[in-house]
Amino acid sequence: MGIDRRKFLTLAGVSALTVIGNKVSGVVPGANSEDVMFVPDKPALTGSRWAMVFDARKCLEEKNCTKCIEACHKVHNVPQFDNPKDEIKWVWKENFENTFPTQEFENVTEQLKDKPFIVMCNHCDNPPCVRVCPTQSTWKREKDGIVMMDMHRCIGCRYCVAACPYGSRSFNWRDPRPFIKETNPEFPTRTRGVVEKCNFCADLLAKGKLPACVTACDKGALVFGDLEDPESEVRKLLKDRFAIRRKPALGTNPQVYYLV
Ligand code: SF4
Repeated sequence: MGIDRRKFLTLAGVSALTVIGNKVSGVVPGANSEDVMFVPDKPALTGSRWAMVFDARKCLEEKNCTKCIEACHKVHNVPQFDNPKDEIKWVWKENFENTFPTQEFENVTEQLKDKPFIVMCNHCDNPPCVRVCPTQSTWKREKDGIVMMDMHRCIGCRYCVAACPYGSRSFNWRDPRPFIKETNPEFPTRTRGVVEKCNFCADLLAKGKLPACVTACDKGALVFGDLEDPESEVRKLLKDRFAIRRKPALGTNPQVYYLV
């Protein structure tokens, strides 16, 4: 059965308006932040289970390096507050003891024990933050396991902050916008009263780019890839090297691995 001419013209008009609207704002109206769409540079990078592998020894080759943190925070409009109480962090450094407080590693050299480790959201396979969110503003993406966050839907209850055993979520106690050094127009800014965290650069993956922290690290200390792909570098590294994860006894099944 064909569609009549009037219906066709109405549908075509709505579609055209939607496309025009999206190009102007870059955002699909009413959509969540997963659907923030900008015209992609390249085809999206796709995977079945994204994971990050951090090579502690490579990272420590360059003392006091913060390139990965700076790149992440710049691309995602993370504000810089002077007061640590207000701090918003997507990627940051923790010393070995705080990163792995419940674990004993006889085979981890003394050399690494007092050194800083890069930490971020672990994009857990079994994320407690998702279970406690009353508005479903955080969820695990079925297609690739990324734990997403929709800041528009967040009501600021901070249940997820309390539920995350890794301190991976930050709450905006103050309006972050005046504290963003240089706003990236391609990523949304946030408001006071919402939670935020690392998104494994879902925004960059959609544009065919690797996570900002991975690209910024010239030592190759951060490797990102698809755990389901046997040919991926992350799979090969985890096969050949000894890797640990944060607080494994909690059953959250983190997808950030540390080569030590
Ligand atoms: Fe959620 Fe924390 Fe796991 Fe990230 S690290 S998925 S915020 S529980």
